[in-house]
Amino acid sequence: MSNATDPTTVRLDGLTKEYASLRAVEDVTLDVMPGEFLVIVGPSGCGKSTTLRMVAGLETVSDGELFFDDRRVTGIDASERNVAMVFQNYALYPHMSARRNITFGMSEFDDEETNRRVEEAAEILDIADLLDRKPKELSGGERQRVALGRAICRDPDVFLMDEPLSNLDAKLRVQMRSELARLHEELETTTVYVTHDQTEAMTLGDRVAVLNDGRLQQVDPPQHLYDFPENRFVAEFIGDPAMNVLSVTVTEQTAEHEAFEVSLPGYDDIEGSALFGVRPEDIEYVDGEQPRRETFDATVTVTEPLGDTVLLYCRIADGTELKVQSDPRIGVQSGDEITLSYDPERLHIFDPESGAAVYHSATEAKPTRAPAEDDD
Ligand code: ADP
Repeated sequence: MSNATDPTTVRLDGLTKEYASLRAVEDVTLDVMPGEFLVIVGPSGCGKSTTLRMVAGLETVSDGELFFDDRRVTGIDASERNVAMVFQNYALYPHMSARRNITFGMSEFDDEETNRRVEEAAEILDIADLLDRKPKELSGGERQRVALGRAICRDPDVFLMDEPLSNLDAKLRVQMRSELARLHEELETTTVYVTHDQTEAMTLGDRVAVLNDGRLQQVDPPQHLYDFPENRFVAEFIGDPAMNVLSVTVTEQTAEHEAFEVSLPGYDDIEGSALFGVRPEDIEYVDGEQPRRETFDATVTVTEPLGDTVLLYCRIADGTELKVQSDPRIGVQSGDEITLSYDPERLHIFDPESGAAVYHSATEAKPTRAPAEDDD
């Protein structure tokens, strides 16, 4: 649908929500750029929905301000914000046709304009043939497309989506995910999308905002978030299987563990106890030949074949468990003694107290997929 006006910037400024003694959202400051697809991700109960509902105007704000472009919308009624929301449960009226569900409440337009918008949305969503059906005659994916149709017909300044794919089965979810991405490319409407699913966040977001305990942890393009997590929480939440995090001692640019020693070129933070992070795919299975890198020994305790890879649960000296993602055709069995080495360019060190990242062995690349800065 043609969006006649320029896309909107959504500014969350110190946004806070308190329910009695509970701070559900705490001091969240974030600019969603014009036309950006921003995903808010975090574990259940971290304050994602509350944040989105405050942006929608469905929830009051305890502290902080909200702006759409330069317009302050804090305290303004939801109906005055020109946002469209899509929820997990579709929220369709069962006794109305898909068409009626889409147009219901669109009294601001005359019939001709309403019809034009419905036809256009139906075409974009590929549901033109289904408009006369009732929700019970539609599949889950089709129902969610009707709900999306209702949102896009309103030509809103901002789309707000709260786990819209969670009720769909795994295959349909993947399909709808790519349809949503395509839809966004077509409409270029500023979108805030909430999910607990980090894969969904990584695949859909121009940028991903990670929330934990009501606080914003990091906002970055997906690959940057993955390669340069700013703290232990982000490092372990983003990525599946999760990053390994082990206690080590750092001296003279070397991380020491009972099972291994690994050098940390350029490390210039405090020495002593630290947390060492390495992703399962950044540990290499060393096969017999003389390796160039330092190696260490491990015992395989469990193998989990995943088709394209195999996940090895390994035990190293002092009983630490290490997850290693490897080529499934190496033929390793549980009980095998194997040799491993770390990719020297993919190591992370975190402060053991605060969890803040103090070192990444990879060189910081410029974030990709970041939206252009606002002109303001
Ligand atoms: P998420 O969407 O990340 O799962 P929510 O934003 O729904 O999390 O909730 C954040 C926290 O606020 C949770 O601890 C939840 O129990 C609490 N909460 C949400 N809504 C209310 C409410 N209406 N009254 C009291 N507590 C609430």
